[in-house]
Amino acid sequence: MKPAPFDYYAPDTLSDVVALLQRLENDDIDAKVLAGGQSLLPMLSLRVARPEALVDLRKLADLNYIREEGDTLAIGAMTTKSAVEDSPLVQRRQPLLHAATRLVGHRQIRNRGSFGGSFTQADPASEYPAAAIALDMELKVVGPDGERRVAAQDFFITYMTTDLDTTEVLTEIRVPALPAGTGWSFQEIARRHGDFAMAGVAVTLRVENGVCRAPRIVAFGVGATALRLPEAEQVVDGKALDSALFQEAGHAGAAALEEPSSDVHASADYRRQLVAVLVARGLAEAVARSAA
Ligand SMILES: Cc1cc2nc3c(=O)[nH]c(=O)nc-3n(C[C@H](O)[C@H](O)[C@H](O)COP(=O)(O)OP(=O)(O)OC[C@H]3O[C@@H](n4cnc5c(N)ncnc54)[C@H](O)[C@@H]3O)c2cc1C
Repeated sequence: MKPAPFDYYAPDTLSDVVALLQRLENDDIDAKVLAGGQSLLPMLSLRVARPEALVDLRKLADLNYIREEGDTLAIGAMTTKSAVEDSPLVQRRQPLLHAATRLVGHRQIRNRGSFGGSFTQADPASEYPAAAIALDMELKVVGPDGERRVAAQDFFITYMTTDLDTTEVLTEIRVPALPAGTGWSFQEIARRHGDFAMAGVAVTLRVENGVCRAPRIVAFGVGATALRLPEAEQVVDGKALDSALFQEAGHAGAAALEEPSSDVHASADYRRQLVAVLVARGLAEAVARSAA
C-alpha cells in the first residue's frame, strides 16, 4: 500500500523546524517529524499513520554527534544507531548501551534509524527505553518555549506515547557515567535475531563487600512501556547474592507484572516466565561483571 498524501518539509535549522511545527499546529494540520523513517514510513505505507505533513530532520547535521561532556556521554538525536554501535566511546564507557544497540533490528535498520527515533517511537518492545531507564538517561527536548530536560523514567508514558508535545523535537540523549565497579547485563529473547523482543531485561548493580547495592532491574516487551521491577530489586538489595536469590528476584519481578502483553508471538504467561528467567540470568551476569 502507498502512504496517503502529505506535504513534505525539510527545514535547514532546528529553530526553523520548531517554528514550522508550531505554525502547522496553529493551522490545525496534523504533522509528524521524520527522522530515519524506519518506523514511521512503514506506518505511513500501512496507513496506520496518516499525517497531513512530514517535517524531515535530515538537514540538521548538528544533531549528529557522540561526545563526552565530563562524566556524561551526549548523543545527538539524529546520530544513527550504527554510529552508536561502532563508537569506541560508547563501547568503553557504556557497554550496556552498546549491547542493547546490537539487538535493535538488523544492521541495515541501524544504518538508517536514528538513535533518538527509538526513544520517540517508544515501542514497548524496544531495547532503548529499557536501557534509558536502567542507565538513568536524560532527554533534551526543544520546543517553542525553549529547551527542557526530562528523565527517561518520566519520558515514556505508555504504548508508543511519550512526554513530547507535537511541537517539540528530541535533540539529545544524555547518558551519565555508571559508578565505578557497576555490573550490568542486557538480556532478551526474540524469535529470530533482529526481531523485536518477546521479553527482555536490563540490570545494573554494584557489589560492595559481597552485598548487592543500588540494583536497577528494568523489563521490556511485557507491558505498555519499559518498566522498573522494584519487587525484584527489593529481593536483592542489601543482600549477599547467590543463585537462589537470583531466582527469587526473578519470580518476584514476574509476579508483579500487571498485564504482560499477549499476542501471536507469546502469551502473557510465557512472557511472565521469560521475565523470571531473564531477571535471574541478568543478575548473575551483572554480579559476574561487577568489580566486587
Ligand atoms: C524490520 C524492522 C525491525 C525492527 N526491529 C527493532 C528492534 O528489534 N528494536 C527496536 O527498538 N526497534 C526496531 N525497529 C524500529 C527501528 O529501531 C526504528 O529505527 C526506530 O524505531 C525509529 O527511529 P527512526 O529514526 O527510523 O524514526 P522514524 O521512523 O523517522 O520516526 C519514529 C517516530 O519518532 C518521531 N521522531 C523521530 N525522531 C524524532 C525527534 N528527534 N524528535 C521528535 N520526534 C521524533 C517520528 O515523528 C515518529 O513518530 C525495527 C524496524 C524494522 C523496520
